[in-house]
Amino acid sequence: MIRFGPAGNEPSFYEQGYKNTFEAMKWLQDMGLNAYEYQSGRGVNIGEQAALKIGEHAKKHDIALSLHAPYFINMATKEPDKVQSSLMHMHKSYIAAKQMGATRVCVHTGSPMGDTRENAIKRAHIFLKNFLDDIDDQSVIFCPELMGKVNQLGNLEEVIYLCANDERILPTIDFGHLNARTHGTLKTPEDFERVVLKLINGIGLERTRIMHVHFSQIEYTQGGEKKHLTFEDDKYGPYFQDLIPVLYKYDMKPVIICESDNTMATDALKSKIMYEQYMKKDL
Ligand SMILES: [Zn+2]
Repeated sequence: MIRFGPAGNEPSFYEQGYKNTFEAMKWLQDMGLNAYEYQSGRGVNIGEQAALKIGEHAKKHDIALSLHAPYFINMATKEPDKVQSSLMHMHKSYIAAKQMGATRVCVHTGSPMGDTRENAIKRAHIFLKNFLDDIDDQSVIFCPELMGKVNQLGNLEEVIYLCANDERILPTIDFGHLNARTHGTLKTPEDFERVVLKLINGIGLERTRIMHVHFSQIEYTQGGEKKHLTFEDDKYGPYFQDLIPVLYKYDMKPVIICESDNTMATDALKSKIMYEQYMKKDL
């Protein structure tokens, strides 16, 4: 089954009078959604009790949880103090994920910081492997994200390189980011299929099927990602409609997290409805 859900709580959740993330689990289930990505981009600040409570409610309402790790992590850094702080943020993400029962941690690789991309991605690879060896726990999968800015580490090939031959790592394929950093190359189902075929070639069919996905429409410039948009955008794309036939063709079961600007749950539901309508037509 494909799971659909939002990145964090959209404003309408709070406007309806809710205050706590644990309450979002029933709210999402009532909407028809079944995944949620907890946002720790600005640091992991959640205490154990709050994490446990989110976990309990997620379980009760059949919401698959993932956690977005802090943006400060740079797996490719050479500076010893930045290595240490990146490890600390990785570790805190792991602990919080474990407490809430999140099985996936989405994480940014970082940036080359003046070094070549090739050297930088090799360092990131070693950093990630060492971290995973150290925690020695396969119940939380780390998911390096395909990034939206041209200068960031984490293009499609780099993400495949990080994930190849390691069961503890799955890609977060952010199609909006990919489209933004390649200035609009995802226009048709065939364009999406090319991406999926590269993934199958790099990490295998089974792991491609269960990958982590971020989807949103994103405004871009020469440098790549500029701003997350909503499904109302008809200029930049990419459009979820074009991914659906590929999901169907390869029998994919990813977790799809919507990162629309302020309408992440609303648009996650739109994605799910589009997918279900396509499946009905097919039968
Ligand atoms: Zn991200």
